[in-house]
Amino acid sequence: MSLATYHHKRDFKKTSEPVGKKSIKAKAIYVIQKHAASHLHYDLRLEMNGVLKSWAVPKGPSRDPHVKRLAIEVEDHPIAYAKFHGTIPKGEYGAGKVTIWDKGTWKSENSAKKAYQRGNMTFDLFGKKLKGRWKLIRIRIKSAKNPSWLLIKIKDRYATKTH
Ligand code: MN
Repeated sequence: MSLATYHHKRDFKKTSEPVGKKSIKAKAIYVIQKHAASHLHYDLRLEMNGVLKSWAVPKGPSRDPHVKRLAIEVEDHPIAYAKFHGTIPKGEYGAGKVTIWDKGTWKSENSAKKAYQRGNMTFDLFGKKLKGRWKLIRIRIKSAKNPSWLLIKIKDRYATKTH
């Protein structure tokens, strides 16, 4: 877990995004930021070992357990990023508007670090929009530069049906 890639990609003299540093707190942060970059996507972030593990979800999460959403793992972000919203300037990495779509806390079923390393995470979200049990499963896509995962709602009282 390192913020080196996060720092490398950004010019903090030009963007108002936080510089941030590693930090560990009692309650694990969960946040989803809606990011209107060149392609609109939703950034899911889960606090783990002092950073925010991050996935870009192009179509956003679905509460329907039958719908699997692609979640592309991106670089770790600093904890301070959970509070970031605003506009990343034109020409900078990820240029476009960032809004906080949902926030709260999360809890891994077992060791979060081990589940992450295995590529099979089961966890509960305690957000305003998203609640209940979810899964992130790492999949193999040969051409993909970043690790690909699937974000899936587990059937519970917070699940919905779209088809
Ligand atoms: Mn993004």
